[in-house]
Amino acid sequence: MSIENIIIIGSGPAGLTAALYTARADLRPLVIEGHQRGGQLMLTTEVENYPGFVEGVMGPEMMEIFRKQAERFGTRYLTKDVTRVDLRRKPFLVEVGTEKYECRAVILSTGASARLLGLESEKRLMGHGVSTCATCDGAFFRGQELFVVGGGDSAMEESLFLTKFASKVTVVHRRDKLRASKIMQERAFANKKMQWIWESSVDEILGEKEVSGIRIKNLKNGEKKEYPCAGVFVAIGHEPNTQLFKGQVELDAKGYIMTREGTKTNIPGVFACGDVQDSKYRQAVTAAGSGCMAAMDAEKYLESLPI
Ligand code: NAP
Repeated sequence: MSIENIIIIGSGPAGLTAALYTARADLRPLVIEGHQRGGQLMLTTEVENYPGFVEGVMGPEMMEIFRKQAERFGTRYLTKDVTRVDLRRKPFLVEVGTEKYECRAVILSTGASARLLGLESEKRLMGHGVSTCATCDGAFFRGQELFVVGGGDSAMEESLFLTKFASKVTVVHRRDKLRASKIMQERAFANKKMQWIWESSVDEILGEKEVSGIRIKNLKNGEKKEYPCAGVFVAIGHEPNTQLFKGQVELDAKGYIMTREGTKTNIPGVFACGDVQDSKYRQAVTAAGSGCMAAMDAEKYLESLPI
């Protein structure tokens, strides 16, 4: 087994920017991009706030551009999931099923995934009316009534997108104020198809084989009320994808990778960038910026190794 200079795990804006920079530094990076490549932007519609795209760009299209740009300078891709890493040995070991890869440096950019409510009915009806991705599933609900859970930018973005198909979109939020940015709030409040249920939580998603309704609990007086609907979109934030690294790389209380002096982790030679280490900004442009930082940090580290 030949030893790779650098392996990048994950292929969102962070991983692909790290790939671009390490490829241009002649390090021939190997990106293990995951079975479902491209990260969370593959699940979004239009990105209007990435600098350089005056008219906006579709998330999946943007990730394809990132990927091609990194490929142009020699990045290699493996479209599979990493199943295990051993970062306590040198060279580092990265396993993809039965395939084993060794590397001198590694960049962790596995991002984050949608958080769920934790109801049994949510799990049972996932893909049968329950969804975490409006872009993926919205079109199935033409002319029907939908519910969206959450009060952040994701919930507003998903709701607005869903109004293109649905007859009515009701947002259920646990507080009386949204967390979403002002511009998203204004757009959502201005949309005539949107309705609001405040200070309430989802008590149950109703339906046997597919969603037929939702039971909402008012958090102030405890009252429960059922509403018919065809779909429930859960948009309550994200969890970092750090399962693979637990017990090896230092994580914070929320499970995000802790970085210091730029993108260094507690293990020399292991760097982290993007949403897997950022619970605060979580933007494509900040992820890309930290990907660039990780590449430069890794390059410096590799230069410092004895030949
Ligand atoms: P977020 O900002 O963390 O919002 C999560 C929302 O879900 C909050 O309103 C929260 O309620 C609610 N929530 C959390 N756990 C819940 C639970 N168990 N039950 C019910 N409600 C729950 O997450 P996000 O909306 O995914 O956004 C993440 C980041 O990405 C943000 O920085 C955001 O600005 C950014 N983003 C930007 C855009 C855009 O600019 N177009 C689009 C998407 C995301 P509370 O408010 O009570 O905490």
